[in-house]
Amino acid sequence: MLQVENKKIVEKINLLKAVEMRLEAIEGIKGNIVINDSFNLDLDSLKTALQFLKEYNKPKKSLVLTDIVGVNTNSKELYEEVSELVNEQNFDSVFLIGDEISKFSELFKSKTYTFIDTKELIESKHLSEIENQIILLKGARKFEIEKLKDILELRKHDTVLEINLNAILHNINYHKSLLKPNTKMMAMVKANAYGLGSYEISEFLQHHHIDYLGVAFADEGVELRKKGITTPIIVMNPEQHSYQTIIEYNLEPEIYSFRVLELFYEAVQKSGYDKKYPIHIKLETGMHRLGFKDFELDQLSETLSEKNLKVQSMFSHLSSSDMPEEREFTMNQFKVFDKNSSYLIEKLGYTPLRHILNSSGITSYTDHQYDMVRIGIGMLGESPDSEIQKQLQSVVSFKTVISQISMVEDGESVGYSRRFKADHLTKIATIPVGYADGIPRLIGNQVGSLGVNKTLAPIVGNICMDMMMINVENVPNVKEGDMVTVFNAKPSLKEFAGYCKTITYEVLTSISPRVKRIYIKD
Ligand SMILES: *Cc1c(COP(=O)(O)O)cnc(C)c1O
Repeated sequence: MLQVENKKIVEKINLLKAVEMRLEAIEGIKGNIVINDSFNLDLDSLKTALQFLKEYNKPKKSLVLTDIVGVNTNSKELYEEVSELVNEQNFDSVFLIGDEISKFSELFKSKTYTFIDTKELIESKHLSEIENQIILLKGARKFEIEKLKDILELRKHDTVLEINLNAILHNINYHKSLLKPNTKMMAMVKANAYGLGSYEISEFLQHHHIDYLGVAFADEGVELRKKGITTPIIVMNPEQHSYQTIIEYNLEPEIYSFRVLELFYEAVQKSGYDKKYPIHIKLETGMHRLGFKDFELDQLSETLSEKNLKVQSMFSHLSSSDMPEEREFTMNQFKVFDKNSSYLIEKLGYTPLRHILNSSGITSYTDHQYDMVRIGIGMLGESPDSEIQKQLQSVVSFKTVISQISMVEDGESVGYSRRFKADHLTKIATIPVGYADGIPRLIGNQVGSLGVNKTLAPIVGNICMDMMMINVENVPNVKEGDMVTVFNAKPSLKEFAGYCKTITYEVLTSISPRVKRIYIKD
């Protein structure tokens, strides 16, 4: 009895193996298609795999090929035959893994690279440069080239924060179209670029020639420098312990008080920096957050003239540029800024850049653009002005999928503390996103809704740490696996911020790092 069962199990396993060992085609990163045949390798299976490639219509292709093991032919003959087969295919690049095959690398006509093992190929970073190609992975089992598949595969996550870089560019260009051609632009990428990913956004903006980047703390700037960002970076909140780091990484501090000025200058002298170090002077004009006030200007200009520092820019910040009812207050901020910055310029004897407008300042007070503006939320496609909003493109969407749908009977309850009780048979969907992902718990119990098939489905019961339940009785054709929009369509980011009784900025910066950020660029 047991005997028979064992036999059956073995048969099943063999069947499974056969299925698993077939070639698989996977959608790869950077528009690649990855053909994974990393389970066995002999001449026949190589022929089959090469044949399989012809079914794909991609202009370029690359090959990863390992030593052929366990074949009793003379290796010169073997690899001559292999290279003939491969050369017929006109690969763009060929990556050879293993010391046997590497000895015969000159037999291959394509650009050919050799590696001792798979790890060495991974570390070489060659693979991450391949774009819009078909990549064949063909290897003997012991080389474990399936590890390459993990790197090359475009992994699909259920819950993602999707960031459309093209839309960012559109929004930047829209704001630029309102400005004079010479006006510079600083992009604020503080707080991980409003939660979207500081490096990815900065790299994209640098590529599109943004003039300045703005971060809150030195470490944010250090991270960008370490990853290769060379655009000037201003640090808005240079903390005392970070002055040496700021100098070491060529970051430019905002100087807002005499205390910061003196301490920073000490650090400059200690560092042995022998040119004029660039700094940015913050002027207080009504926000009452940071900055020099008018009675401090004489002393400021005197102190600056004694020091080997270069005032790169002078700036201030508007407290209410998004509030038409505070126009008079805002106009007074401009007046104070104009007066105080002009006074300092006169005393300094040279003219630093001046800037005061944030995103809604750019759209509402364009005349006060000075030499530079500082864009933040506007590049992410949000404006308080409904007319401007129509001109901007949506950048961020937070999406997930339905894990399960249940029918909840009259009188049954949903979730912790039984806060939702059905009063009729109700269709409830469970979503794999909770307060640990950055959704405030206070929008449970029908305060907020999520979008499913273009219909708003109210959140029912208390939001859990990693999940929540929504009422989908009014959603047409709803099924498990359907996409759910946390925001930016229906509901919009603004509507979602409304549920949370906060502003869009806080919604974005609250999304937990565990939510996978995906960048779209077409
Ligand atoms: C964050 C910030 C900005 C950008 O503000 P938005 O309203 O997002 O455009 C501009 N300037 C300073 C000093 C900031 O801290």
